[in-house]
Amino acid sequence: MRLIIFGPPGAGKGTQAQLLANKFGIPQIATGDILREAVKEGTDLGKMAKTYMDRGQLVPDEVVIGIVEERLRRPDCAKGFILDGFPRTVKQAEALENMLKKLGVKLDAVVNLEVDEEEVVKRITLRRTCRNCGAVYHLVFNPPKKEDVCDRCGGPLYQREDDREETVRNRLKVYREQTEPVLKFYEARGLLRNINGNLSIDQVFQEVLKALGVQ
Ligand code: ADP
Ligand code: AMP
Repeated sequence: MRLIIFGPPGAGKGTQAQLLANKFGIPQIATGDILREAVKEGTDLGKMAKTYMDRGQLVPDEVVIGIVEERLRRPDCAKGFILDGFPRTVKQAEALENMLKKLGVKLDAVVNLEVDEEEVVKRITLRRTCRNCGAVYHLVFNPPKKEDVCDRCGGPLYQREDDREETVRNRLKVYREQTEPVLKFYEARGLLRNINGNLSIDQVFQEVLKALGVQ
């Protein structure tokens, strides 16, 4: 299965991508996670990316395209993958199309999670992320068993710098202006599957499986 999980920031892409990755036994490739890892390690890439991420802007196309190209060549992607947070511009979508052509594989679907803007803001501003393993929680909708502690690895939970309300509004504007046009690109290729992402995590997952024709 080769999928893209698409939607505005906070739509639940990472949450659904993780569930799908577990179900199908294929890797979740989240460009945001890869970039945050580079920031944490303090690499040159991380230092550069941070200047964009903290302001809620997109990291330059050529940087993100290079990251994904390298990642898709790894052997664990041979049986499939789930792209989460990529592509975010039409230029990235075109680059992905070329990469997949070179690899001789095709996308199965682009799952678009449609979520109202006010719901997205509620989801992002109460999101908590594990500093250690990147697992994602929500203080109300999906709380950890123990306050501020990751269920999965015991690491500390924190609020991402870019999840504060001022930055969130800017990220949504960037989404509307630069990322939403990507939907037309995939609609034209017959790959787009629109899903009501306002439902609960479990209900959304069932809708996604239905749209993919699996149960
Ligand atoms: P994205 O990867 O699209 O930015 P996440 O998967 O990190 O979104 O989800 C954003 C926040 O909303 C997280 O705190 C997550 O726990 C919560 N969340 C995800 N899906 C749902 C849902 N269907 N209903 C309520 N909360 C959700
Ligand atoms: P995310 O974890 O998907 O919410 O991404 C967090 C931030 O990482 C974004 O606001 C961007 O600054 C950067 N980022 C992640 N994916 C991409 C991408 N495909 N293109 C450009 N920037 C990205």
